[in-house]
Amino acid sequence: MKEKNIIEREKKVYPETFFIRFYPMVVAKAKGFKVWDQNGKEYLDFNASWAVANVGYNNERIINSFIEVYKEITALSLTTFSHEKSLELAEELIKITPGSFDKKVIFGFSGSDANEAVYKVLSTRKGRFRIISFTGSYHGQTMGAYSMSGHPALSKIRGLNNVVKVPYPYCYRCPFNESYPGCSLACIEYIKHVMKTIAPSQSVSGIVVEPFQSDGGDILPPLEFMKELKRLCEENDIWLISDEVKVGLGRTGKIWGIENFDIIPDGLTVGKPLGSGLPISAFIAKSEMFSPDAMHLFTLAGHPAIAAAALATIKIIIEEKLHENAKFVGEYLLKRLKELYDKYEIIGDVRGIGLIAGIELVKNRRSKEPAKIETAKIVYRLWQLGLLTSYVGIHSNVIELTPPLIISKKEVDEAIEKIDVAINDVIKGKVSDEEIKEYAGW
Ligand code: PMP
Repeated sequence: MKEKNIIEREKKVYPETFFIRFYPMVVAKAKGFKVWDQNGKEYLDFNASWAVANVGYNNERIINSFIEVYKEITALSLTTFSHEKSLELAEELIKITPGSFDKKVIFGFSGSDANEAVYKVLSTRKGRFRIISFTGSYHGQTMGAYSMSGHPALSKIRGLNNVVKVPYPYCYRCPFNESYPGCSLACIEYIKHVMKTIAPSQSVSGIVVEPFQSDGGDILPPLEFMKELKRLCEENDIWLISDEVKVGLGRTGKIWGIENFDIIPDGLTVGKPLGSGLPISAFIAKSEMFSPDAMHLFTLAGHPAIAAAALATIKIIIEEKLHENAKFVGEYLLKRLKELYDKYEIIGDVRGIGLIAGIELVKNRRSKEPAKIETAKIVYRLWQLGLLTSYVGIHSNVIELTPPLIISKKEVDEAIEKIDVAINDVIKGKVSDEEIKEYAGW
């Protein structure tokens, strides 16, 4: 009952636009891959607070790293004062990101403002003002990042007009009605067409891409697509930026998502897991990309105590090889999801890489009509059964799984068992429309 009261009080003070809720969950505490609610009920977390808790919740090493620095200095504005911890983090990010060229780093607080830096840097490139990004993408809520986004939830405000959007290779629902690999990469041909017409290649400064499009529906682009995209960029002197906010730092089985394609981008953004819950993000790119016109500074960005937590996060991921665990356990997760695909007609597709996976639900495998309400019901039922998940996708019909990278096959088995029960229960009508009426859709 306590949580009911909190949810009601929340409704009075927050506008709907401040959240995307899937069930009424009031969190009390968390540890590792487990979360407890106000009533002491335990949940297995396959959301990780939207792919933030990569090393698991409440890691002592991270907490202590933060406290040690925070005790020495609570407030420091890197804009005017120097601190070694923040510098160490910038140096570490330069070291661990792909490319041996000279790089520079800009700190922010969220994925959105890291991508805002991308927008500014690309928009102020001399002689080139256009940016290409993809339909379905989610780059953030600040105006530049919003304008580069192609997710329908980010289409309500008229965005900045120097961004041209092209289709992401969503092969399950190919916008060209083709099927891969017989399509001859129609999506790449389309970009070439765009660069000959409405966005001449010499006017394009950069292409911004998610190496795995998560909020757009957990879509893994074909290897060949990414290779061709990189080639197009190189041929036309266009900078390629990888948005690694959600999949960077180990989630895909490599430290960076783009490494799965053996591509070196000119720059990348990192956010969510970097501070293990503390607000920090970064844009790391070739030094030559930063011009004095693209000013991007915030009073508290790169706070040394948060930088210490971020350094500890990176250390843990690399030392404990969490990216390798993500690859190993992720392969098992995908195998188990394929078993569910074989069992349930409602599952149209299962996709994933490392420990990010999507289950796309359809009313009918032939028509592929999105099963949006059923998706909301299954995610709700999973919460009741003690498994935290969310759903994503341009049609709000993809259950997303992004557990902390510390899980083992045992937790995968536990989650699969619950997903199996939840799908069955929803098919049998155990969750009413009334129960999920506040949770249907992004
Ligand atoms: N980029 C990607 C790929 C994301 O998934 C998100 C958040 N869903 C963002 C940027 C924005 O991050 P934040 O919410 O921290 O601003």
